[in-house]
Amino acid sequence: MPLNPNGICSPTTLEGWHPSNAFWRSRKKQWKAGLKVRQLFSSQLSTRTADYKPARQIKQSKEPMKKSRIVLVFVLFVLIFSTVPQEVTAQTPPTCGYDSNVESILAEVTQEDVVQWIRNFSGEDFVPIGVSQKKILTRFSTQLFNLNVNALAYPYLGEQLRSFGFEEGTYLTDHAYTPNYVPTGTENMIDLHNVGEDYVSSDRNTKVVGNPDQTTTWKNKVVTIPGHGPNADEIVLMTAHMDSTSPQRNTNAPGAEDNASGVAALMEAARLFRFYKFDRTIKIIFFTGEEQGLWGSEAYVEDHPAEMDNIIGVVNLDMFGYDNDQDMCIELHVGTMPDSNQVGTCFTEVNTNYNLGLAYDYVTNGAIGASDHASFWDAGVGAIEVLENFQAHDESFGCNGTQDRNPHYHQITDTIDKMYMPATLATVKAGVGSVASLALPMGKCFATDPQITATPQTESIIVNWAEIEGADVYNVYRSTTSCAGSFTQVAQVSTNSYKDVDIDLENDYFYKVQAAETGAVCYSQMSNCAVARVEVPIFFDIFIPLVIAGE
Ligand SMILES: [Zn+2]
Repeated sequence: MPLNPNGICSPTTLEGWHPSNAFWRSRKKQWKAGLKVRQLFSSQLSTRTADYKPARQIKQSKEPMKKSRIVLVFVLFVLIFSTVPQEVTAQTPPTCGYDSNVESILAEVTQEDVVQWIRNFSGEDFVPIGVSQKKILTRFSTQLFNLNVNALAYPYLGEQLRSFGFEEGTYLTDHAYTPNYVPTGTENMIDLHNVGEDYVSSDRNTKVVGNPDQTTTWKNKVVTIPGHGPNADEIVLMTAHMDSTSPQRNTNAPGAEDNASGVAALMEAARLFRFYKFDRTIKIIFFTGEEQGLWGSEAYVEDHPAEMDNIIGVVNLDMFGYDNDQDMCIELHVGTMPDSNQVGTCFTEVNTNYNLGLAYDYVTNGAIGASDHASFWDAGVGAIEVLENFQAHDESFGCNGTQDRNPHYHQITDTIDKMYMPATLATVKAGVGSVASLALPMGKCFATDPQITATPQTESIIVNWAEIEGADVYNVYRSTTSCAGSFTQVAQVSTNSYKDVDIDLENDYFYKVQAAETGAVCYSQMSNCAVARVEVPIFFDIFIPLVIAGE
């Protein structure tokens, strides 16, 4: 798609641009409708072409062919004029009105969770990675993929997402790309001072033969939540770069605001969206190589040309939560494409509908292009960038002309203690709520959650629960320590009970069960915790003394 479809958003016609401007909405609608007519027409034509019989056969059946041609023209006529009005209705620009599903999702995004994600990814706390506990001290992209034990953010991310039930290889995938990284010591780093939709990402194709840093492959982590509705082929993207930088980038680059804040938002989305059904498909993408010049997102766009046409919008979250003047003001870098404006408008509606309390500069002309959303702009895909109050904009905008830039940007001092948590939490919620709204929520996956009992038998434990409507399978989890301990999945069953024979006598076993759909990402909440213990039979207690007495 061209950057400015039909030239309707050239700078000269942009006077009076406003998110609520009905004129632009209707222009967008017309453009989409026109596109649908063209697509429909061309698909009908190609179908008809494919149906043509070879010349020899046409000669043999001249009369039927004439009739079928008339029928085809009639069908074509009917199809075009009966289908198009429905298409127009379906393509009404998304509005993100109040939805109780979104409200219940946002109610589960807590400051405690958000703080913990930021702490975990920015090296404040030890995190479990494999069998060990590590701190993530840097997320500079070269270090993420060169086995630096202080930069294990990528495997940590994968383990956390798998623990949410995203199956590796289907709903959790790696998009690998070649960075051709050239360490010169004076690399250009992405700089948010770069302004404009035509921001050009730096070249990642320079090759130096024999350079060891070029033997590594870099990866973006992609979570896919397939849509459940008629618009499942349409995709909403939620993106953030997970890499960080600083003058000591190889050893110490906490990047708490830039961009553990965005990563926290994506983790909350991944954690909560799995309990809901959405009409559209959601993709949550953790980009790397952003600090080198948007390499990860640029490679993703290049490698997924067909997907670009199906993307409804991209919510890119990069660097928010610093709010020294505590005015709750952020910047939405929207740019000038109508598709981007729809995403930006949605974000503002979510902020209003769920009383999130954010103020914002809504930036169209002069929007910053120096983050991963720009890779999608380059492909003509609607996208916004959510940013702290980095620049001073017009006094009439939401931030009243103020500038409140994080002085620790790209420094080793970009740590969580510099951030203002009410603004961080509100921005995470606005991002999560925007993506949920754009994806058209259809309700919870299951109306109820399993309630279980655990009953000891002679040499086994039986776990029982009532069937959950719509569940294909039940995942059974067990802990050997406590209800608050770490649980591992011990079985997946399609019946409403499980017999655990892998037990030791006189040990407590703790169980939880989760209902799931197969071929989808859709889960119930975890059940209650039930505990059982198989005692040593009393028979042995009395038998042994008897034997002794008999001797
Ligand atoms: Zn950033």
